[in-house]
Amino acid sequence: MSPTKFAVKMHEKSPSAGVFNHIPPELPEPDVQILTTGGLLIPVHSSILALASPALETILDRPRKHRQKERVIPILGVPCDAVYAFVRFLYSSRCADEEMEKYGIHLLALSHVYTVPQLKQRCTKVLAEGLTTENVVDVLQLARLCDAPDLHLKCIKLVADKFKAVEKTEGWKFLQRHDPRLELEILQFMDEAESRKKRRKRQKEEQSLYLQLNEAMDCLVHICTEGCTDVGPYDMEVSKRRAPCNKYSTCKGLQLLFRHLAACDSRANGSRCLRCRRMWQLLRLHASICDHPDPCKVPLCSQFKLRMQQGKKRDDAKWRLLVRKVVSAKAISSLSLPKRMRDDVAISPRLT
Ligand SMILES: [Zn+2]
Ligand SMILES: [Zn+2]
Ligand SMILES: [Zn+2]
Repeated sequence: MSPTKFAVKMHEKSPSAGVFNHIPPELPEPDVQILTTGGLLIPVHSSILALASPALETILDRPRKHRQKERVIPILGVPCDAVYAFVRFLYSSRCADEEMEKYGIHLLALSHVYTVPQLKQRCTKVLAEGLTTENVVDVLQLARLCDAPDLHLKCIKLVADKFKAVEKTEGWKFLQRHDPRLELEILQFMDEAESRKKRRKRQKEEQSLYLQLNEAMDCLVHICTEGCTDVGPYDMEVSKRRAPCNKYSTCKGLQLLFRHLAACDSRANGSRCLRCRRMWQLLRLHASICDHPDPCKVPLCSQFKLRMQQGKKRDDAKWRLLVRKVVSAKAISSLSLPKRMRDDVAISPRLT
């Protein structure tokens, strides 16, 4: 293909849209050549190169040595076809999908070096979509060199997610040998991601526990004022007791604890069994958040409140924090959790 023909062919493929709208159909003769690997020369127009790439414009503006008749810009180190695709993009703002697929890595490097943000953006997107455990380390290194933070982050996340597969690849082994700093950076990211995951899991579990406690508090009041299936206020006839309520999974556990508390003989031995202690804590928790005017129907509520007022039982910081969390769990659950999740939380109360 003759130089002029190539330039014309590139122009023929140029879109009528985009920044090249104003290029006249009849281009002048190319005035610059791009030298590619293997010694191939691509004739191009300096005006178009300068318009599409500030970096190339700077190169073109440099004073020429030896008063060369024709300027030559070497673009070496990438396959010749990748340079063709790059030049075609400079002319047309377009790049075929096959070219992008085949030369995405090279085009990213070229778009970075020669400051062609539109192409860089496209390469970043395509490379991110095509990431695999096999190519991720290569793309990661390139993303770092080419200052492509989004692509860099996506690569690191993939390495972290599929580390077992990635560490078997040649790319990873090469990285270990030649770029220990990057290896360390990736391992640190993975470590932090693991800590974040554990922290989120712990917070979720805590929140779930506070929600359960909050629901237990509701059930406690419900049992002691309205009564439920097996347990109700002492002044309520057994026949008037209700059918299972809508929080029955939690309510049932509390009813069993009530029955146990009434029947347990561990107190006679001067101690309380684990279940009695648990019920005792729940009754104390109720008293700590109860705003019902006396007399409250929940057992021991008045006594606990009195002791708190008299300062006989100084609540420790841990207990006050628990009370605060249970109260806020109620607000959070009613504001942010969808109903389905709130229902899920109540499935397995730790009350029995
Ligand atoms: Zn109930
Ligand atoms: Zn007991
Ligand atoms: Zn109360």
